[in-house]
Amino acid sequence: MKPWTQEDIEIIRQDFPALKQLARGKPLVYLDSGATALKPKVVVDAEVEHLLYGASNVHRGVHFLSEQATRKFEDSREKARAFLNARETSEIIFTSGTTAGINLVAYSFGSLLKAGDEVLISHMEHHSNIVPWQMLCERQVVVLLVAPIDDRGELIMEEFARLIGPKTRLVAITALSNALGTINPLQEIVRLAHAKDVPVLFDAAQAAPHMALDVQALDVDFLTISSHKLFGPTGVGVLYGKRALLERMPPFLGGGDMIRSVSFERTTYAPLPAKFEAGTPNISGVIAFGVALDYINKLGLARIAAYEHELLDYGTKVLSTVPGLTLVGTARHKASILSFTLDNVHPHDIGTMLDQDGIAIRAGHHCAQPVMSRYGVPATARASLAFYNTKAELDLLAQSLRKCVEVFS
Ligand code: PLP
Repeated sequence: MKPWTQEDIEIIRQDFPALKQLARGKPLVYLDSGATALKPKVVVDAEVEHLLYGASNVHRGVHFLSEQATRKFEDSREKARAFLNARETSEIIFTSGTTAGINLVAYSFGSLLKAGDEVLISHMEHHSNIVPWQMLCERQVVVLLVAPIDDRGELIMEEFARLIGPKTRLVAITALSNALGTINPLQEIVRLAHAKDVPVLFDAAQAAPHMALDVQALDVDFLTISSHKLFGPTGVGVLYGKRALLERMPPFLGGGDMIRSVSFERTTYAPLPAKFEAGTPNISGVIAFGVALDYINKLGLARIAAYEHELLDYGTKVLSTVPGLTLVGTARHKASILSFTLDNVHPHDIGTMLDQDGIAIRAGHHCAQPVMSRYGVPATARASLAFYNTKAELDLLAQSLRKCVEVFS
């Protein structure tokens, strides 16, 4: 595999019109892809083209436009299947995003649980992988257990293994922490859980843009992704689930498209995946998401990961030269996230100062408040990387942070 040169990256950057603009009069430095990724023009064109010329509902019509929309929509399902290497397209449920996917599992799979059953998550979860389980606990007196993390931001594996007990019914863990950048040992998590017949859900919202995920090789039972973090539109996501599990689970939302037949006496449900796709989906978004997956495949996730690894190493090095800066999250296996605090400067002030230099980062709790309390900070500043970022941009980040230190010292 030939690594990308700076010229290659410059060519790739041309695909992203957002990178050609100024922010506060300076060239935009977008270091917030962990919140949402920029969109290549081909993706936006595909969505616009569908809305302008192809708008029609799917799965129902007999006319040309509806058949065309259905074909493109289902093509995207096949692309998502291939992207995750799922066995069948019936295991690919389109949702509105990771949050919706996890809520679907919490309601539907969760409805099969009994009082006293346990769900195991970790201390580094996004609120999307905490709150749906807390709501399940309230509905069904299920118990939520939390596997601890160490100071580097790594899951403490002995504790994790110990917490999987006879009452554990599901392990739900992030593949890559949005607040720390930690990549969890996915294979080992599945191995430990399956050894006790416990299914595993991976929240891969943050992982999917940065590493290849093969659901069959991982043998994971559920996995969720969000299109908008994968250079596609917002309002689209995928829940992957093993067929046998999805078959056992009751529908989540009821309505059109998810039924086989309806009468006031008895309604029967459609087979997978329609059973979990009630109502008109985000058709243009799903079609454009398919184009985003084509785009990622063209670049190649292995190359993306290699380049981003280099960027992360470089970013870690240059940030270490900024006085008073502490990295939050120093896992040995991490990707794309540089979360940090600066002595005497609130992260929101860091964000505002950097913004003056055209640099977009995120400041706050990153929807991971338990992570913040674990490190005893109210918030962090977070630079999150994508393959369109450059070392020069990381130099600008460090330079702007030094200015910040001077202003606040
Ligand atoms: N999980 C993780 C790790 C995330 O980073 C995010 C978004 O930041 C989510 C879940 C929620 O994703 P969405 O807002 O697309 O549903």
